[in-house]
Amino acid sequence: MSEKIKSYAAQEPKGKFEPFEFEAGELSKEEVEIKVAFCGVCHSDLSMRDNDWGMTEYPFVGGHEAVGEITAVGESVKNVRIGDKVGLGWNAETCGHCEQCLAGNQIDCPNLVGTIVGRFGGFADRVRCHWQWAVKLPDVLDLSKAGPLFCGGITVFNPFVQLDIKPTDKIGVIGIGGLGHLALQFADKWGCEVTAFTSDLSKTDELKNLGADYVVNSRDSAELEKVRGKFNLILSTVNVSLDWQSYLNALAPKGKLHLVGATLEPIPVVSFNLIMGQKAVTGTATGSPSVVAKMLEFCARHNIETITENFKMSQINEAFEHLENGKARYRIVLENDF
Ligand code: NAP
Ligand code: ZN
Repeated sequence: MSEKIKSYAAQEPKGKFEPFEFEAGELSKEEVEIKVAFCGVCHSDLSMRDNDWGMTEYPFVGGHEAVGEITAVGESVKNVRIGDKVGLGWNAETCGHCEQCLAGNQIDCPNLVGTIVGRFGGFADRVRCHWQWAVKLPDVLDLSKAGPLFCGGITVFNPFVQLDIKPTDKIGVIGIGGLGHLALQFADKWGCEVTAFTSDLSKTDELKNLGADYVVNSRDSAELEKVRGKFNLILSTVNVSLDWQSYLNALAPKGKLHLVGATLEPIPVVSFNLIMGQKAVTGTATGSPSVVAKMLEFCARHNIETITENFKMSQINEAFEHLENGKARYRIVLENDF
């Protein structure tokens, strides 16, 4: 396809998304083009729109949870063909030949380029990426709910693989939004005992339906004291500061406080927090393509689905306001209506 790509772009931090067309140029040998059917809205899209992380380029076209059909492939593309249904997440390009890529650890490739970092993302009728990051969707997954698995999903699935989580482990998930509601389902289906830490106890019944065995107020230090010494893993998906000392106290020996939420304020850790009990504070970003494929299979086998709120792409500003107000239950998905 050679005609211009239609998208929605913000021109400045906190700016409204407005229609924006751009010439994408010739598709490179290693690239694929995806006709976007649906694209999830991640909290990172909001942080990027507002340049919270200091790396946004304007005009900014967000969207890194895109699913749809392949409409064009470069001549060196190996894994997908025109017509295949695929998804694309946060990562759009890695070199494929560095030590990390060759080890299957593409997320640590020094040449990694994000889908919405210096590139135009999935709030568009078409989006491009290197073939390695277009991962085929199992047929049984519902296209309208699959997009969020490619960022929100993989980000909370990858720790289970990387940290070698066992079915006998006790897992806590802090913050039950887009990432957190998928994390509860993964932890439950992995076989673990699951605790949801939430600031909104009105969600308790829903969180139990998603697999939480226990629900605890994430902001109540007295409640956190009652779970002292319990968890093998606490996965934080919040981007705010909490009573981190109490969360470290809630870890069992050798337990990990694992951060995927982009909390900008430093997290205080004194050495004895870690020395006593051999604890660790760790973090990860998204996950490599082979782990994405594993996750999709796991979702298909265990009927794990995103709970979505659906907007048309033309309602993108309304959708962002809804997310910004903390009202999304649990992931907003935009449907392409260009
Ligand atoms: P989200 O849907 O907005 O969910 C965040 C959750 O955090 C909320 O639902 C809420 O859960 C909790 N929360 C929000 N404000 C709070 C407050 N003041 N006090 C206590 N809890 C609060 O966001 P998301 O899309 O899941 O993304 C979560 C974070 O992960 C963001 O920082 C995002 O940038 C980051 N992220 C990182 C990666 C990675 O690769 N590491 C990938 C994707 C996203 P409750 O209502 O249950 O309290
Ligand atoms: Zn994301």
